[in-house]
Amino acid sequence: MSIPDLQKLLADFADRRDWGRFHTPKNLAMALAGEAGELAAEFQWLDPRESAEVMHDPAKAHAVRMEMADVLSYLLRLADVLDVDLDAALREKVAINEGRFPAE
Ligand SMILES: [Mg+2]
Repeated sequence: MSIPDLQKLLADFADRRDWGRFHTPKNLAMALAGEAGELAAEFQWLDPRESAEVMHDPAKAHAVRMEMADVLSYLLRLADVLDVDLDAALREKVAINEGRFPAE
């Protein structure tokens, strides 16, 4: 699915539940930060080796996948509400970082 397709999927899900009124930029940004925290919590206290092997445990792998989906959902909704083209924004950011951190 493309980014716009994913945004339509999420917008339709929210619209069918009349959740659009809750999806203000402030609320979506706060939800995004909260879900990023939930993702980070899945790795809290793991040592580097354990964190690299987190997907080997089916239950842990599922939890990580679901938190990643939560993060992506809120980022996609926020971009949709603010009319931000994520593809263009990402390409712009990579170009900026190419200048900041030139490869050898
Ligand atoms: Mg979550």
